[in-house]
Order: sequence, then C-alpha cells, then structure tokens
Amino acid sequence: MIGRYRLVHALGWLTALLLLALLPLLAAWWQAPPVRERLIEFGVSLGLIGLGLFLVQALTSGRLTWVAANYGTDNLAHFHRHLGLFAVLFVLARPLLLMIARPEWTSYLDPRVDWMRATSLWTLLLALLMIIISSQWRSKLGLSYEHWRALHGLLAVIIIVLGSGHALMVDHYLTALWQKALLVVMAAAGAGLVAWTRLVRPWLLRRRPWQVESVRPERGGARTVVLTPIGHQGLRFLPGQFAWFSFGDSPFTLQQHPFSLAGSTSSGQICFTADEVGDFTASLKHLEKGDPAWVEGPFGAFIPDPDPDTALLLVAGGIGVTPFASLLRSFRDRGLSHRVLLVYANPSPDQAALAEELEELCTNESRELVHVLEHPPFGWQGATGQIDRGLLQRCLDRLSDHNGPLQVMTCGPEPMMDIVEVAMREQGISWQRIYAERFEIV
Ligand SMILES: Cc1cc2nc3c(=O)[nH]c(=O)nc-3n(C[C@H](O)[C@H](O)[C@H](O)COP(=O)(O)OP(=O)(O)OC[C@H]3O[C@@H](n4cnc5c(N)ncnc54)[C@H](O)[C@@H]3O)c2cc1C
Repeated sequence: MIGRYRLVHALGWLTALLLLALLPLLAAWWQAPPVRERLIEFGVSLGLIGLGLFLVQALTSGRLTWVAANYGTDNLAHFHRHLGLFAVLFVLARPLLLMIARPEWTSYLDPRVDWMRATSLWTLLLALLMIIISSQWRSKLGLSYEHWRALHGLLAVIIIVLGSGHALMVDHYLTALWQKALLVVMAAAGAGLVAWTRLVRPWLLRRRPWQVESVRPERGGARTVVLTPIGHQGLRFLPGQFAWFSFGDSPFTLQQHPFSLAGSTSSGQICFTADEVGDFTASLKHLEKGDPAWVEGPFGAFIPDPDPDTALLLVAGGIGVTPFASLLRSFRDRGLSHRVLLVYANPSPDQAALAEELEELCTNESRELVHVLEHPPFGWQGATGQIDRGLLQRCLDRLSDHNGPLQVMTCGPEPMMDIVEVAMREQGISWQRIYAERFEIV
C-alpha cells in the first residue's frame, strides 16, 4: 500500500483473518454432537472462537513483512493487542460458563482427580492471565521490552499447544479425523510462525552480515549509526520504513531494536539516528568501526505517495524526524520534486537532531522547513510554543497554492500526533491521507 490506505483491501484482509479464526468453531458445528444446555454450547463456542483467534495471532504480530507492509507496524500492534484481549476473554469465558452450567465440572481443575489434566489446565489459565497482564502493564510492572518479548513468545506457544491439546483431548466437538487434523495444522502453523520469527529469521540473517561504518554524535545526545553490508547488496527500502537492529557476533539476541531508516534509499549504506533513552541506545556510543551488526527489515507502511503531484505536510516532534530525514535525502538523491513542508518541533535548538542538514535539504524552492521551538533563544524569529491547531492551519494555508492531492505524515510524541490527526480530520482531510508512525508500540 503506497499513497493512501485502502479500505477495501483492509476489509478483505480482516474478513479472511476472521474466517480463518472461526475455522475451529465452524468445524465443530459442521459435524456437531447432540445439543446440550444453551449455556454449555455458548461457552464452548466462545472457547473455540478464542482458540481460533489465538491461532491466527502470529499473522498480526507485525513481524511478517507480507502483512506488515500493507498496514503499518503500529496499526498492526494495536490490532494484535486488542485481538489478543478478546481471545483471552473468550477462552476464559468457556470454563466459567461450563462450571456455572455443571458445577461438578470444577473437578477438571482438581489434580487429585486427574493430575495431568488439572496441571495443564492450570498452566493454561496462568499463561492466559500472564500474557494479558504483561502486555497491558509492561512498563508499570518494570518489565524490560526484551524480557517481555521473550516471555510473550513463550506464553503464546504454551497457550497454542495446551489450548489445542485440550480441545483435542475433550474429544466431544472435534472427534472426526478431519476435524482433529484441521486443529493440529492450525496449531502447528501458529506455533511455527512464532518459531519462524524468533528462530529461523535470525538464523537467516547470518547470511547477510553488516558492519558498523561510523557512529557520530548529533544534537541532543542522539547518535547516527552508519552500517555497511558485507558481501551482499544491502537493503532495499522505501523512505519512512524501519528495520530491527542488533549488534554483536550473533543475530540471536534479545537486544533487537526498531529504528527508522534515516538515510537515502539510493545509498549502499544504511543509517539510523537514535535518542539515548535506555540501555540499548546508551550502548550505541561504544560501537566501533568494524563491529558486527544485523539488520532485519525493511518493515512499515509509513511511506510517502510516489506521485510527484502529491504535496507532503510532514509534522515531526524531536527524534520523530528520522523517517523524514530519509525522505528528504532520498528525494534529493533521486531528483524527486514533491512539494514538501516539514514542521519540526523541539524544546530548544540544541535538542534538534539533524537540524542543520534538514535546513540545507529544504533550501530548494519546493521544500520548506518550519522549525518550532518551545524555549526559543533570544532573537528567535521563527515559530514558538508547541504544535497546535493554529500553527497547523497556517501550514495548510502555505500549501493552499498547490493544486494536487495532499498527504500528511506525522511522527513524534503521542500527544503531538493526536493533535495533528484530529486537526487534519477537522480540516476535512481523509483519514486515508493521514499517516502516523508511533515509536511506542508496546
Ligand atoms: C517503528 C519504530 C521506529 C523507531 N525509530 C526510532 C528512531 O528512528 N530513533 C529513535 O531514537 N527511536 C526510534 N524508535 C524507538 C526505539 O526503538 C526505542 O527508543 C529503543 O528501542 C529504546 O531501547 P532502549 O533499550 O535504549 O530503551 P528502553 O528504556 O529499554 O526502552 C524505552 C522504550 O522503548 C520501547 N522499546 C524498547 N525496546 C524496544 C524494542 N526492542 N522494540 C520496540 N520498542 C522498544 C519501549 O516502549 C520502551 O519502554 C522507533 C520505534 C519504532 C517502533
């Protein structure tokens, strides 16, 4: 998807995904045993829907390029999170409703009756609660992203294996060989996709090594890391996309972090510019020329319309300017003539990473940079304060002489992006023309 989001495409994909998730339930209905109490049938149906949703969750993780390329990683991450919440609620509703209908079935959870069954059911319940609690409140729990990600993969596989195993062992709704085979195939595919992204992908990365070319300091404590491919063609990407980076002798590491590809798409090298916010970004300053690096990508749909008639209003806050640096550098190198107005907001000039180069890139008559400073230095002539509706309206006025379509792209702190999105909708700009890239996805 390039240019604008396509509703029909997204609805088609959503329908296919939900149909896939409903397969266990449809299979159970196809050759159903005699109907029991309504509450039991309802509880079982919810359980099968929840299980189906879990089995397709790997498709929405954002790590499969053929899915993520169309919908954007942050959109997918939100979708994945909400779908996961519904899946857990549906699966948990099943034992609750069944035990209300038949209180004697609480014995399923009693290890004295059947040790193996009770242990697997308790493990499943615990895994369901843990996956929701750790995903909804990761930061509040003080769980680092790396440990959360490792835990999330493990819990996902436990839920898939034990949930499908339980549905097969109950042997009431899925009794025919084809029904069992369907569930086994779906479970194997779900767990296989998790294994693919966590184990096979890093293993494949070993064939495409990179090395650090340079690390240079930027304003505000940020750093630009430049990487060179070793023995391969490098990475083909579009401006606005990002990749997952890791450093060290092996690509098998928990420390793999996403950064926007900030360089030109025409360069053989790639680079990213990172703010120092935690352990990984702080460690970048210790990198040296020649250090091994691994790059998984490109990902993301935060991509400008390639049609040169489209004007671009880019609104960046702080380090959120990195995808736009790639865009302007690529447009310069490829001689593209889009009309571009970049609004770049920062607390103060000394925190504005890449500002000098962006100013140079915007000297062309079709490019304009509006720098907004919250704490301007004495004598500052430009815009001040924070990005608000008034400023955005003035930017749209500046672009009013442009006859072609407009695309708005925004990246930066959440509150700024919310203001941009609402203000643009109020101005009658279609949501299909407003692109947002969120760095805080979990
Ligand atoms: C699509 C995308 C593009 C990004 N581009 C840039 C960029 O160009 N420049 C930049 O400075 N930052 C960018 N980020 C943010 C960057 O990934 C995090 O700041 C970085 O991973 C923090 O790691 P840390 O260990 O230093 O800090 P921590 O203190 O460990 O993390 C700070 C926060 O960053 C997020 N985070 C940490 N690790 C990861 C991870 N492996 N994957 C996803 N999120 C994580 C979490 O929300 C966490 O709370 C981007 C994020 C995304 C999702």
